[in-house]
Formats: sequence, C-alpha cells, structure tokens
Amino acid sequence: MKTYKILKARYHNFFRQVNLLNKRAKKLGCESITVNVIREYQEPHKRTNLAGKEVVVEYLSYVEISLTGQSPKLNGWEVLAILSHTKQGNLLRVVPGKSLPTEYRTREAMCDHCNTKRYRTDTYVLQNEKGETVQVGSKCLRDFLGHASVEALAKYAELLLSAESKTGECSDEGTLSHSERSFNLLGYLPFVSLAIEQYGWLPRSAARANGGSPTADVAFGLMMERKETPSLNDIEKSYSAIEWTREALKKDNLSDYEFNLKQIVDSEIVDYRGFGFAASIISYYNKAMQTKVEASVTPSEHFGTEGKREVFTLKLLKTIDIEGSYGLTTLHKFEDEKGNKAIWFSSNGSDMEIGQTYKVKATVKKHDVYKEVKQTNLSRCVVVQ
Ligand SMILES: [Zn+2]
Repeated sequence: MKTYKILKARYHNFFRQVNLLNKRAKKLGCESITVNVIREYQEPHKRTNLAGKEVVVEYLSYVEISLTGQSPKLNGWEVLAILSHTKQGNLLRVVPGKSLPTEYRTREAMCDHCNTKRYRTDTYVLQNEKGETVQVGSKCLRDFLGHASVEALAKYAELLLSAESKTGECSDEGTLSHSERSFNLLGYLPFVSLAIEQYGWLPRSAARANGGSPTADVAFGLMMERKETPSLNDIEKSYSAIEWTREALKKDNLSDYEFNLKQIVDSEIVDYRGFGFAASIISYYNKAMQTKVEASVTPSEHFGTEGKREVFTLKLLKTIDIEGSYGLTTLHKFEDEKGNKAIWFSSNGSDMEIGQTYKVKATVKKHDVYKEVKQTNLSRCVVVQ
C-alpha cells in the first residue's frame, strides 16, 4: 500500500481538505475517502558544519498515512489511473491504493474502445475484477461502459487524486511558521554565540523593558537567513556549554528556570518558546568561563577561621546595592593582598570607598564558593584603621 507523509502541524488542515472532498464524493453517491494513520515520527534535517561534521539542525514531525476509497464500479470496471499525455511523455495519475502496470507509462494516447490513436490530453486506464486493464479515451468512457452515469467513476478518481495531491502540499516544510518548528539545540546555539560576539548579550526581559532585539531572536534570524556562518569556536563553545549546563543542573531543588533549561539540554530540541532559555546557556557559560579565567590568574583562597572575629587588611573592589525583601542591602566585594576574595552584606551601607584598602575587623561567617571561586563571607565589618 502506498503511503504518504504529512507534516504533523498540517495534519488537521489535511483532514479538513479530505472532508471537503468527501462532501463531493457523497454528492456523487460514492463512499468517503478514508485517511489511515500508520505512524508518527520525527525526521532530522542535517547540515554540514564548518568542522565538516553533519549536525542535525532541525527535527520535523510527520504523520505517515495511507488513503483508501471505495471506487465505484460500472459493469465491473473501475478507474486505475488517469494518464495525461504531454509532449514530455505521460504524466501518471494513479488512483491512491492502486498500481498501474508499467506498460502504460509509455503507452501513447490510444483508445482501446474505438481502437484509434488521437490527439487526446487525457485517457483513463480501467481495470475489471479479473485484473484486465484497458485504456479508454475520455469521450469513449460512456460508450465503453454502456452506462449513462460515468461521471461518478471519473470524478471519484479525481477526488482520490486530489486527496493525494493535498498530501504533497501538507508535507512542504517551507510552509511552516517559526512557531511550528523545533530545532536542534546544537544547530541553534552556535548562532547565539555568533550573535553575542557581534551585538552583545541582551536577555529577553531586558529587551522588553528597555527595547532592542533580544539575543535569542537575533540568533534565530541569523540561523534562518543563513547569510553568516558560525565559526568553529562558536560550534565548539556550544558543545561545551551544553555539557557544562548538563553537569551544573545535576542537582536537587531546581528552580523553574533551571527546570526549563534541563528539559532543553536533555532533549537537545528547542522550539520557539524555548529560544530565550536556550540562548541563556551561552551567556551563562561565557560568564562562568570568564570567572574561571579570572580565578586562574589570582586563585582565591579562604582566610580566617569560621565563626572567629579578627582583623583583616582588605581592598574594596566594588559595591552592589540589592533591593531585597528586608530592604536595601549593599554587597561589598573585597580582596586581600594575595587576591583572596571576600564579601560582606551590609544593611546600613558603609563609608568605605571603592579602590581603597582598609584594616577591617570582621567575623568570618562562612567559607563559601561562588561560581567555582573560593570566597570568605564576612559579617559585622568595622573599619579599625
Ligand atoms: Zn475511443
């Protein structure tokens, strides 16, 4: 049995079209055309990247179907195919579910009924219950079948062929809108990397608040236009970023954001709604690698003893005001003369100036690690000198 593939996103549309054809079939007094679903499947679309590797850039979901119709019979004959005779040769329009003997592929515009060869655009190949076939010109159909109502016979064949041609229309991926497609993460992320290098990182939330095109959309545009190709570095970074994210998410108590991200990196498939999350993978990876580079230049070690109050010599690197549920707090970031990092959250601010070095009396609250860098968390800092 001949089968056809239809984009899953177009299946409803296809079904609706067949229903319209079936209204016409009913008027002809014929049975409905039935759509039989055989299976659903995903097909990877591949492209060769700069490294010469074939990568899946997109997955398309399809439904495989077959079409069956109960063709009407007149005196035991039914339509097998309609042959359109063109200068380029015969165009075979075989009724779905039927098979045409190969000799008809090259047969001229003969009519076996009147036994003449004429200039005809279309001839019908008919088959009887014994499996015998005959080629008849459209004008001779009525004569050959000895019946007044040949209309249903020919028209039902047209309806079946029309249903078949709809399968072609409904399998054209070019008709899919962005929101109906799903893409391979490894196909998309290199364009995110490229977009960040060229235009900087702009999360969707910031774009919404302050205007501008979010990186996720810029990257998608680049991917669809295909004018620019990501570099090897972009591709390698995407591989590493996915691995890094996968490792980082191997933990309990995922936030909603992390949960969404996990689904994307686990399936390696991303659709329109997930682009923002997916794009952030590269941004986070970039930041983490940046921190790692900084950390390797001046490896930070813990200092002091947890729970003990001591005096340390610290340089204030920067302050960040944080609006929290307990009001405004100021995060102070310090480092000592060896480059060891420390932080202090102050609810009252401080008189310390950025870039200045102070002798500070403080309690070591915790020896912590932040983004793979050791830092000493301080409390109750008082400048003693
Ligand atoms: Zn004839």
